[in-house]
Amino acid sequence: MRTFNATFVATILLSLSLVSLSSSASPVKYDSGVPSDIQAQMEADLGFMNQIQGNGQTNFHQQIFGAVSGAQYKNFFESRIKKIGLNDCGNPNAVACVIPMMGSNKMWLTQNFIKFSHPQIARLMVVYHESRHSEIAHGNWPHDTCPTPFLDANGHDMKSIWTGASLAGEPACDSTQLGSYGSSTILLKNVAMYCTNCGDKVKMDADLYATDQLGRIDRPDVKQAMINDFHGQAK
Ligand SMILES: [Zn+2]
Repeated sequence: MRTFNATFVATILLSLSLVSLSSSASPVKYDSGVPSDIQAQMEADLGFMNQIQGNGQTNFHQQIFGAVSGAQYKNFFESRIKKIGLNDCGNPNAVACVIPMMGSNKMWLTQNFIKFSHPQIARLMVVYHESRHSEIAHGNWPHDTCPTPFLDANGHDMKSIWTGASLAGEPACDSTQLGSYGSSTILLKNVAMYCTNCGDKVKMDADLYATDQLGRIDRPDVKQAMINDFHGQAK
């Protein structure tokens, strides 16, 4: 009788853990052509994002995402991206893309997604940048053309942190904090400042990539408004 009960309890526990595993998977639908290792990486990344806890947020973050909270990030992503497919995104360096004419609520991942040499929070920056491109009501938040010349504070050519390519004259900037570069910069800066259950490495990486991507905001007044927002002076 004792043995039977123990087996019974073990069976119940196993079923419960299976239920919780299946409910933690995202509701996004993967095309059959998306390799299982790419799906597993995406699910691990979204799973990390969905468990973030925070103790504050900036005004711009509140406006775009709500609180620094996994539940808010999960809702943001899942209300925009319903399907995931495999594509080369027309660029050998691309990691992910949204191709509006092939469905605005579909995100395409490339083989680079699992070869990406940047940290997980940087890959999530790309994923959230792309999810912003799903918004048809805002013309899919197109990029702005970076100025020529496009120099950093030290007078050096601005270069992509992803590829090292020069950004001058490229469609790789943003003129608004609400766009794809702007919003993902605000996202990572807030993770760096307010996440309470992220390790120091994640927060340092988040700050590093946010600071880099802030450089792609090519309107000085918008960039200054974002810096003020990060310092709690936005209004
Ligand atoms: Zn983009």
